[in-house]
Amino acid sequence: MTSTAPTDPEQTTPDAAPPAPAAPVPAAGGGAWKIPLPDGAMPCGFCGVAVPSPGREETYSVIPIGTERHGQVLPYRGDSLDFAACGSCTARHREAARVLAAHPSVRARFGTDNAQHRLSAAFDVCAVLGVRVPARLEKNRDLTVNMIMMLTEAGVGSRWTSMFVPVVTGWAGTAQCAPEPWAHVDAEWRRELRAAFLRVLAFRFAQSQPDQEVPCPDPGGCMLCGVGAVAMPATRVAVLGGVDGAATFAWTARSAVPSSIGGKALRGRVDGYTCPTCERAVTEAGSFGIAAMGRSLAEHLDRAGKPEQAKRLRSAVRLDELAGLVAHGVGGGPASREPWEHVRLGDGLS
Ligand SMILES: [Zn+2]
Ligand SMILES: [Zn+2]
Repeated sequence: MTSTAPTDPEQTTPDAAPPAPAAPVPAAGGGAWKIPLPDGAMPCGFCGVAVPSPGREETYSVIPIGTERHGQVLPYRGDSLDFAACGSCTARHREAARVLAAHPSVRARFGTDNAQHRLSAAFDVCAVLGVRVPARLEKNRDLTVNMIMMLTEAGVGSRWTSMFVPVVTGWAGTAQCAPEPWAHVDAEWRRELRAAFLRVLAFRFAQSQPDQEVPCPDPGGCMLCGVGAVAMPATRVAVLGGVDGAATFAWTARSAVPSSIGGKALRGRVDGYTCPTCERAVTEAGSFGIAAMGRSLAEHLDRAGKPEQAKRLRSAVRLDELAGLVAHGVGGGPASREPWEHVRLGDGLS
């Protein structure tokens, strides 16, 4: 639910009462988003429709924490509020339980009740948008987790009860219901839901894609090893919001005195970015300098099938044995395809 103010001047009350809190604007633009609750019925706490004379097992209670009055939130002092679950919402949430039954590790990660709550809320997003829940979720653990991470908040915020918990909003009425499922979800919130669901679709698409290249924000590449891009699983790139978001995650901004990374200048600074391998080497070495560069180069040699050279490099206990190792950022030049392409082994390094 958003706080969009009513835009239709006809809807504003003409009396001297304080201005009403902003109410949802119906997505359909025009029709009422709430109607009086028929006798004996209870609103579905999810989609909001009236559930005629629900049985006890079809109802549940919530206790608000606060209540909104004249633009302030005050402690809630009333009774718990009762809602029902309509047949359609119940079936959807059972489907969520069926999917979770196939994923014990998801239940372990979130807790069984919480996982049920969160995936049900994610499924509610699909219901509001009128789209199908992605198929074969019971065989796709990662997509199930992605839906939970991307859609829980959007789903909970879509529910009829979101007008009552945690705070009873000024436009909530216990004697009302939605004229049709999700009529209370306004256009602006639906846009948010679509954006959130699009990220789920992007993740699902990425599951079938190869690793993606994430370029260094600096065209010169990693300031230590010079590599221009790092490979990342496409799903990770999707979760991070695309290549730009992934680059912010993968590359670390760094600044160093040239002499500390193999340069001659004792003044001025070299600014740039380090790749994940070099950054890990810096952490292991405990400082940003020659020792970290030696570790990063040794790791590259290991991967390049040159374990003997890597071993000799690692055994270079004194930093001056690494003399000749110059960071790519010191010399400048374009990024390279492989790390440490700018270093010629044999220059006192092997
Ligand atoms: Zn419902
Ligand atoms: Zn690097």
